[in-house]
Amino acid sequence: MAPWGKGTGDVILGRTRGIAYGQRVLLPARYNGLICCRGGAGTEVKLNYRDDCICSSRRRFLKQAGSLAIASLPIGSPLAFAGSPSNGSPFSVIKNAAPLAPNAFYLLPLGSVRPTGWLRRQLEIQANGLGGHLDETWADVGSNSGWLGGTGESWERGPYFLDGLVPLAYLLDDPRLKAKAQKYLDWTLDHQLPDGMIGPSSNHDWWPRMVMLKALAQYQEATGDPRVIPVLARYFRYQLSELPRRPLRDWGKFRWQDNALTAIWLYNRTGDAKLIELVRLLHTQGHDWQAQYADFQYTTPVTAQMIKLDQGQGLADLALSTHGVNNGQALKAAPVWSMVSGSDVDRRGFQQMLGALDKYHGLPNGMFSCDEHLAGRNPSQGSELCTVVETMYSLEQSLAILGDAGIGDRLERIAFNALPGAFTDDMWAHQYNQEPNQVEVSLHHQPWTTDGPESNLYGLEPNFGCCTANFHQGWPKFAASLWMASHDDGLAAVAYSPCEVRTVVGKTPVHLSEETEYPFRGLIRITVNPSSEVTFPLRLRIPSWTESVEIRVNGARVADGRQEGFAKIERRWKGGDLVEIKFPLQPSVVRGYKDSLSINRGPLVFSYPIGEDWVKLRDRGMTADWQVFPSSQWNYALAMDEKSVQEIAVSGRTIGDSPFSLKEAPVSLRVGARKLPSWRAVDGVADPVPQSPVMSDEPQETVTLVPYASAKLRITAFPVLQRSSPG
Ligand SMILES: [Zn+2]
Repeated sequence: MAPWGKGTGDVILGRTRGIAYGQRVLLPARYNGLICCRGGAGTEVKLNYRDDCICSSRRRFLKQAGSLAIASLPIGSPLAFAGSPSNGSPFSVIKNAAPLAPNAFYLLPLGSVRPTGWLRRQLEIQANGLGGHLDETWADVGSNSGWLGGTGESWERGPYFLDGLVPLAYLLDDPRLKAKAQKYLDWTLDHQLPDGMIGPSSNHDWWPRMVMLKALAQYQEATGDPRVIPVLARYFRYQLSELPRRPLRDWGKFRWQDNALTAIWLYNRTGDAKLIELVRLLHTQGHDWQAQYADFQYTTPVTAQMIKLDQGQGLADLALSTHGVNNGQALKAAPVWSMVSGSDVDRRGFQQMLGALDKYHGLPNGMFSCDEHLAGRNPSQGSELCTVVETMYSLEQSLAILGDAGIGDRLERIAFNALPGAFTDDMWAHQYNQEPNQVEVSLHHQPWTTDGPESNLYGLEPNFGCCTANFHQGWPKFAASLWMASHDDGLAAVAYSPCEVRTVVGKTPVHLSEETEYPFRGLIRITVNPSSEVTFPLRLRIPSWTESVEIRVNGARVADGRQEGFAKIERRWKGGDLVEIKFPLQPSVVRGYKDSLSINRGPLVFSYPIGEDWVKLRDRGMTADWQVFPSSQWNYALAMDEKSVQEIAVSGRTIGDSPFSLKEAPVSLRVGARKLPSWRAVDGVADPVPQSPVMSDEPQETVTLVPYASAKLRITAFPVLQRSSPG
């Protein structure tokens, strides 16, 4: 039997239509934190559902246990307890409860998947950079934060910081970061108003609370803190009663699905039908993203005039429906709603939305342009960092719900390119907007649809501080989402990076170790270590960019049994079983804006690294704001096309301490190119990439391309030389 949870639900005593009073029963994961008995056998039972530890009589226990449907548990077959890292037991998986439609996959509770290898080093860079020190140097999340009871910033910035700090702290098991997060969590958990409202009393906006709900849910998964579920339950009851007279507005109206996701998370733990009622109300009051994309109107770059920003209409529906971060968050709207509706039409809403964003605003780094409204396909346009991390989170959630392997491809493309591309190597400075063709980072630079001149500086809070508060969730949530549980009680690798997994399959604790230098190398070694032999399906995502994959189990080649983009290996697993996957990482090309060419190798996008001259603009507390000016020419056209992709030379080196730094770039490509003098920049902005094919009389050169994120000044979408160009 699993050990008892510490302080979270020691013993249930009683009998109510199936449970014997006085008999020890393991508390099922879904009731973790709802009911506890702090006494011993035969003593008075205490419950902490909705109210913290009401001393209760036997009769009261029976009544409350009955109301939670404990009675439906079969006698003598206790379910697994959802343990916490503090007691060392593995995490159980919590699936969708009826009437919700089942998911293809389920995210494992926070802490089940932990980064190793280069991914752990990347999270450590974040912790040693601004991610682990923001509160020490930025007053908006400092000691006077409204989310600590102070008079400072009381809106989204505290919750944003927590939404990434909590998973960073627990994935790294870092006491310093846990202590930082705990202050905010304790304040919120200990200052709930009697009516159920949480957060600073200086505002009643639903939106910032939607973010805090996500942080609280992650914290509960990692620790089992018994305060969380009752606080969430009371808050959602309050929200359900309050929304009819104080409906969703502006940001909250366009981001309702994030609120719904945590309500569903709680439903799967308490079974309170009122939570489904709440999700339906949020859907009714929220923006209809599916209708917007069923008849998509925003097919050209949005201008300030189009959305009437000059008339103070920044929070009007027109502006908010074309806002990049809102669209990134909304990618999960249809999948989240499909859990309630059970409708295939809703499930298909995801592809309808992503397809339109790609078609009209897609960029070669996997993102859509949004600087900060939708900005077309010109690779000199930018994408906001908040949109990068919110899109990743939407992809992680949508992948779990839908099980579409292609979502994993997109998640990796953004995680390995656009995410690290927006940061300095040490993660002490970030950009608000990044560009695929980024030839200068400076105040000169203003190609943006609606953003200000600081937007592509590397700094503390260029343009606006939202990304400063919100970037933290990118890497940790990616790491936590690499493996998921499948609907049929198996495990699935939905994205690849070095990590280890501790979970439970059926009732058997299972440890997995994934060793790899992916995405820089194509070999992945997964060691399976169940505590005793156990049969379950192991699914491995086969990316769409490869046709051939080699999979071996204990050295013997196995058929990949591919289903819907996943290889499925079902066998009786025993300790030390080794699964090896070999992806051929061949360079490939894709066409983009004006028939430009971008070069990929697996999930990595490659760029020409322009010489960088870093100039400090000003000190900003523990960090600084930087401009970066080009110190070399950049206007190259490629002397290659789809037919000559095999001629690209690939070279590699050991992955260093900073996986995405330029000087340690673990892989590089060499391609033929010629300068194209007619392609210029104006005020630090590359002209739109010229229509291919192009002609050039310049001599042919061989240029080296590096991973997108390694080049802070870069060309990623190249014009292509006509094959008959003179040589
Ligand atoms: Zn932002």
